[in-house]
Amino acid sequence: MITMDTIIREGNPILRARAAQLTFPLKDDERQLAHDLMEFLENSQDEEIAKKYRLRAGVGLAAPQVAVSKRMTAVLVPGEEPDKPIFKHVLINPTILSESVQLAALAEGEGCLSVDRDVPGYVPRHARIKLRWFDLDGEEHVARLQNYPAIVVQHEIDHLNGILFFDHINKDNPFTAPEGTLLLE
Ligand code: ZN
Repeated sequence: MITMDTIIREGNPILRARAAQLTFPLKDDERQLAHDLMEFLENSQDEEIAKKYRLRAGVGLAAPQVAVSKRMTAVLVPGEEPDKPIFKHVLINPTILSESVQLAALAEGEGCLSVDRDVPGYVPRHARIKLRWFDLDGEEHVARLQNYPAIVVQHEIDHLNGILFFDHINKDNPFTAPEGTLLLE
């Protein structure tokens, strides 16, 4: 299973590389990786398991974060009820087909399992996206996401392109964002 020891941290050049497209059918180790990425997120959101293995809670984990430079990421945005997540998918070769002009940022800023320090500041992203991805069997999916799930997916896709969340923070004034940016509590 993936633990915090498996996850590479900023400074590792793999996090700055553009990850490679996957081809179907996926290889066995790629299917296993998809399972392991999602399992980590599930474990990290389970209070007991997280405590036992000292896992930081996460809502997304991309393959490059475990040193596999391929275009795969798991996303698990929990809902109000434990077994009804808002968005739970392993995304293979995800692409943003279109995006809103409207920007949104989390009022508290963002964090990352590969970044062990707090980097304060707004991370402006598109408030709404139309996302395409492939599942493990190569089936194509399209979904429209907005606000928090949209932000999480953009953070994860950034990982596939060698981008970290703080790259988007205004260096001089971290808590400023382009005019009209929606701040999400
Ligand atoms: Zn991250």
